Amino acid sequence: MSGFDVSCHHALAMPRSSEMKEAASGSRGPRLGGDDQAEWLRRDRESVGQSPYPAPLVIERRSGCELWDLAGTRYLDFESGQFCMSTGHSHPAVAAALREQSGELMQIGNRFTNRPRIRLAERLADISGLPQPRTFFCSTGSEANETALRIAKLTTGRFEVISVARGYHGRSSAVFGLSSSARHMRRGYGPSVPGMGYVAPPYSYRCPFGCGAECDAGCWRYSVGMLERSTAGEPAAVIIEFVLGGGGVIPGSRAWAQAIRNWCDEQGALLIADEALTGIGRTGSWFAFEHFGVQPDIVVTSKALGGGVPAAAVIASRRVADAAIERGFIQAASHQGDPYQCAAALANIAVIESEDLLRNTIRQGQLLSSHLNRLVQRFAIAGDARGIGLIQGLEIVHSDGSEAPEVAAEVCVACMNEGLIVGGLRPGIREGNVLRLAPPLVVTSEQIVEAVEILEQALKVVSDRRQSLHPA
Ligand code: PMP
Repeated sequence: MSGFDVSCHHALAMPRSSEMKEAASGSRGPRLGGDDQAEWLRRDRESVGQSPYPAPLVIERRSGCELWDLAGTRYLDFESGQFCMSTGHSHPAVAAALREQSGELMQIGNRFTNRPRIRLAERLADISGLPQPRTFFCSTGSEANETALRIAKLTTGRFEVISVARGYHGRSSAVFGLSSSARHMRRGYGPSVPGMGYVAPPYSYRCPFGCGAECDAGCWRYSVGMLERSTAGEPAAVIIEFVLGGGGVIPGSRAWAQAIRNWCDEQGALLIADEALTGIGRTGSWFAFEHFGVQPDIVVTSKALGGGVPAAAVIASRRVADAAIERGFIQAASHQGDPYQCAAALANIAVIESEDLLRNTIRQGQLLSSHLNRLVQRFAIAGDARGIGLIQGLEIVHSDGSEAPEVAAEVCVACMNEGLIVGGLRPGIREGNVLRLAPPLVVTSEQIVEAVEILEQALKVVSDRRQSLHPA
């Protein structure tokens, strides 16, 4: 197979040296034959709404952290199927639960309940640590965030919602207006839902508020002044990611989280934790907020919850949930805690517990983080490494420290050419200079080392080529 040609995405096709790699590590999986990938891609372009990213692949098989495409090439998936496959691709226990439940009762609509739904609500209450919460079920992160906003608006009787610049909360109507992970992402779609306010992100690496490496919430203090002048001053909610994912893997700080929590309490606003990406173990805790010493009023979780099945949950403290229900809140979706969704989610949570994956996440996250920090020392284009647990980012920069999305794209493609999938590159968008490394929580130390070797080689190839293109 030839190198990926994503030149239309401002990245360069790279020569493949898989044979060398194969000989060196002996770790490359078997080639499956099946040479009709090009034909399937042609059919995809004809009929499917959007081409895949960052490079065209028809994925055919999976196992834990590994994927094979139709041409038989093996990849390490360090994006976990876009953060959904935390227990690895098609974990046998999750697949078995799904098979069993789908043979009994898959879906029952939202006017009846079912045992898997009740059990999952109980499990989420246990692992969230919120005071006697109630869970409202949905299918996707966007839908769950919309649901959280409706709950916040109904219980507070207010309409304004504050989000963090560089945050991402989905692409449906209201939450799209709160999303700003990429520049100009709302261009061409008309006005957003009214009543949105933005605050500066806790971006220590590029902090203009004088906090230095340790975020002391200068961004928040500055932003509150802005909010006082630009909003009606009656916020229903503040919605945050404790680790901004799509916006560049930016972890908040305890000072920042505490300042927001205090402000919400003073203002009578609810704090919504969008844990679509970070929930269900990604950071080494069930939820990312646990690292920051504050408790949200509402926790949204999706992606990893269903173990590959679309399942999302809005976990609200008893006080908030009851106030919403009292005021007539209705959550009525076609797929809302379906038995098959909940059976998969329950099996998925059970796997995380029985395989001690929270502990593995901390251990492997430390290993990955220490290697990424080493790469920052070695390569000028690697500006910063940061993250918690198994959501780690590597920020790619120019020599003057400015963001270098086109270089990040080259590194990303070079990694893919050598069998490593990392996140952070989107076709046609000159954005995203932070490579996201987020393998399934079942990842082994050997797989981390293999991925780091590929990444290191990719950084070297791209650095050398840049050097020869732009000698100092
Ligand atoms: N919130 C966050 C933090 C996300 O990362 C995402 C998805 N990337 C969403 C919400 C939206 O989830 P979905 O794509 O399932 O609608």
